[in-house]
Amino acid sequence: MFRIRFHGRGGQGIKTASQILGSAFFRSGFEVQDAPRYGAERRGAPIFAYVRADRSPIHERGVILRPDLVVVADESLVPIPAAGVLQGVTSNTLLLVNSPQTPELWQQRLKLGAPVLCLPVESEGEDRAGLPHIGATCAGAAARLVGVVARESLVQAVEDELAKLGADELEFNLDHALAAFDAFSRHAGRVQEGAAIEAGGYARPEWIDLEPDAALFAAPDVEGAATSEGAKTGLWRTLRPVIDYERCNRCSWICSTLCPDGAIRVEADHTPRVDYDHCKGCMVCVAVCPPHAIAAVSEAGARAEESPA
Ligand code: SF4
Ligand code: SF4
Repeated sequence: MFRIRFHGRGGQGIKTASQILGSAFFRSGFEVQDAPRYGAERRGAPIFAYVRADRSPIHERGVILRPDLVVVADESLVPIPAAGVLQGVTSNTLLLVNSPQTPELWQQRLKLGAPVLCLPVESEGEDRAGLPHIGATCAGAAARLVGVVARESLVQAVEDELAKLGADELEFNLDHALAAFDAFSRHAGRVQEGAAIEAGGYARPEWIDLEPDAALFAAPDVEGAATSEGAKTGLWRTLRPVIDYERCNRCSWICSTLCPDGAIRVEADHTPRVDYDHCKGCMVCVAVCPPHAIAAVSEAGARAEESPA
């Protein structure tokens, strides 16, 4: 099975790269999975996408932990551990880095024993955030490096995935995908197909019992350290939660824990108190209180009662 991971930043076409390569494999007769994995969904944030391709049905699921090929669209991600570019890379993994540096320099830097190639091609264009969009280029290079995807399959895959963008965009991306495919002709077949991963002998992790801390200490509190205490979200409220202390059984954690704003404090005697400066009036506490001890009261009415004209 081929296991390929693409790493880049949001806006560079990483998802597009995996879709094109996945379609190209499929058109070459392979079973395929391709999927993107986002962190923070914003332009410039690290993202990755992966492709599995095999001649028989694929039963593996989840992200690829032992890649045969890693394509890096943005070299600045390599030293960032959270980006996971080097996760599972062994001396059998081929690294393709979009970089003006030489492969030899990358090998010296990484000291992983993994073969490295660099992508000395122009970007496909700048997006609004100024990130080079190189999805089709990455896909074309990867298709050549695996050595089992025909040029015609790559052409069809780019058409499958990008025809919706219009004739000009399609031609532009096709040119770049094919230029990368041709540029790596002398490295065709460099990616070694990984072995099947056996599920036999799998040992479940040990179950660990963790004692929960008392809600008095562990429940969220908007007044706690490093919170946005200065933002008075209480100004948004149109409904106000009002606790009926006759009904409240001092369970001491449900409303305070589930309040998304940490706006219900539990006092030492287990009495909950709503912080109306920070309660935004979502009424989650009203919905979750088991004895229905919290009522939703009109904010305008409650204010009028507090300061009668
Ligand atoms: S969830 Fe209800 S019963 Fe429990 S502390 Fe809050 S108001 Fe009281
Ligand atoms: S209404 Fe929402 S924000 Fe206000 S105390 Fe209840 S759960 Fe928290």
